[in-house]
Amino acid sequence: TAPAVANIGVVGLAVMGSNLARNLASREGNTVAVFNRSRDKTDLLVSEHPEAEFVPAYSYEEFAATLAKPRTAIIMVKAGAATDAVITALTEVFEPGDIIVDGGNALFTDTIRREKAVRETGINFVGAGISGGEEGALTGPSIMPGGPDESWVTLGPILRSIAAVAPDGEPCVTHVGHDGAGHFVKMVHNGIEYADMQLIAEAYDLIRRGTGKTPAEIADVFAEWNTGELESYLIEITAEVLRQVDAATGQPLVDVILDQAGAKGTGAWTVQTALSLGVPVSGIAEATFARSLSSRPDQRAAGAALPGPDEEFEVADADAFIEDVRQALFASKIVAYSQGFDEIRAGAEQYGWSIDLAAISKIWRAGCIIRAQFLNRIADAYGEAPDQPLLMAAPYFADALSRGQAAWRRVVVAAAQAGIPSPAFSSSLAYYDGIRAERLPAALVQGQRDFFGAHTYKRIDKPGTFHTLWSGDR
Ligand code: NAP
Repeated sequence: TAPAVANIGVVGLAVMGSNLARNLASREGNTVAVFNRSRDKTDLLVSEHPEAEFVPAYSYEEFAATLAKPRTAIIMVKAGAATDAVITALTEVFEPGDIIVDGGNALFTDTIRREKAVRETGINFVGAGISGGEEGALTGPSIMPGGPDESWVTLGPILRSIAAVAPDGEPCVTHVGHDGAGHFVKMVHNGIEYADMQLIAEAYDLIRRGTGKTPAEIADVFAEWNTGELESYLIEITAEVLRQVDAATGQPLVDVILDQAGAKGTGAWTVQTALSLGVPVSGIAEATFARSLSSRPDQRAAGAALPGPDEEFEVADADAFIEDVRQALFASKIVAYSQGFDEIRAGAEQYGWSIDLAAISKIWRAGCIIRAQFLNRIADAYGEAPDQPLLMAAPYFADALSRGQAAWRRVVVAAAQAGIPSPAFSSSLAYYDGIRAERLPAALVQGQRDFFGAHTYKRIDKPGTFHTLWSGDR
C-alpha cells in the first residue's frame, strides 16, 4: 500500500479542483493527494505542475491510503448525483473521524441530507461554499464552511491558509454554522450577486439612454464611482467590460453581445428559499426574473409591438442625472444586502444555525464576486447590534438612504416616464417605502380575506380575533 504522506486530498480535478489543489500545494506544510474519476485529468495536472509535488491516486482505495489520519478530502465535482457518488465511494474507504468536504455548489438541503447520512458512519461531512470562480480557487477564494465543530479543528487551519485575505489581513473564511449553513450562505451570496449585477446594468442603461454617452464614456463614469462608496469588484469589472472593443467589428463589445442573460440556478434557489421562509428579497427576485425575461426571445418579439411613451427621453443636465443614478444605485444596493442578510437570519432561525452576520460580511470582503468596501459597514452594523432587525435602518445605511432617497425617486420616475425598465431600482424603492410605512393597505387585504374566506382579522384597538358578518355572507 501507498504511504500516508498527504495531509489533504482533492477529488475532482476539473478547473475548480485543479486550481484548489494547486492553491493548497503552494502553502507551507501541505502535501496534497489528488484523484479524479478519469485518469487523464490526474496525469495532466501532475505533469503540468511538478512544483506542486502532488501525490496522485488512481482509485478511491489508493486515495485513502495516501492520506494521513484524520483523512481530509475536498470534493470538487459536478453538483448533484456526481457529488453523491463520490461521497458514497469515500465513505466506503474512510474511517470514523475522517473529514469529507464538499466544495461544490450544492443546494443546502442536499448538504443537510448528506451530513445526516455521513454522520451515521462516524465520518465528518462539511458542506463548504467556495466563491471566486477559477481565479479565486487558485489565488484565494472566500470560503463558507458548515459542518460539525469537531471537523473545524483540523479543517480551519487548512482553509485559513488558502482563503483570500481581506485588506485588514483577516482570512476570508469562518465556520458559518452546522450542516448546510455554509452552502446556505453561499447561495444567498450568489443571490446578492445577481441583484448587484442587475442594479449596475440598470444604471448603465439609464445613463446611456438618458445622456447618449458611449459605453467607453460610461466606463469612465464607473471607474470614477469605483473610487467612492460604491467601490467594488463588480463596479471595477463593469468599467472594463464597457471599455472593451470587439476585434471583429470595431464596435463596443457590449453592443455585439446577445442581450439574453444566462443563469446557473443559484439566484432561483435564493428566491425559492426566501419564498418558503417568507422573507421578501424583492431585489434579488427582480434581478433573477430580469434574466428570465431577457432570455425569452419569442415573447420579446411579440412584446416589441406594444407602445411606449411618446416623449423622447433626454435629460437636461447629464452630470446631475448621473449623480442621481449613482445615489439610486447605492440606495438599491443597500436594500438588496439588507434583504439578503434577512434571508440568512431567517434561514439560521429555521434550521437552528448560530450564524454571526458580522463575520459573514467580513469573509465576503475579498476573494468573492461581491467583494466591496461596503461590507465593512455591514460588519460594523452587526458588530454594534448583532440583533439588528433591519440592516438598512442601522445608522450608516439610514443616513445614506436619507441622503439618496430624493435622487432615487427622481431616477425611478424618469425611468417610468421614459419607458426604460428598472425592475431592481423600482422594486427596491417600493420595499423601502413599504418597510417605513406607518400603515399599510394590508388592512384591506385582511378585510378581503375575511370577506370571502372568513379568515378573521385582528384589531388595532383591542386584543382577540374577529370576523365580520359581511353582507356577502347572507
Ligand atoms: P464540473 O464541470 O462541475 O465537474 C467536472 C468534474 O466532476 C470532473 O472532475 C468529473 O470527472 C467529475 N465528475 C462528474 N461526474 C462524476 C462522478 N459520477 N463521479 C466522480 N466524478 C465525477 O467542474 P468545475 O467547473 O471544476 O466545478 C466543480 C464544482 O465547483 C461544481 O460543483 C461547481 O458548481 C463548483 N463551483 C464552480 C465554480 C466555477 O467558477 N466554475 C465556482 C464555484 C463553485 P471526470 O473528469 O471523470 O469527468
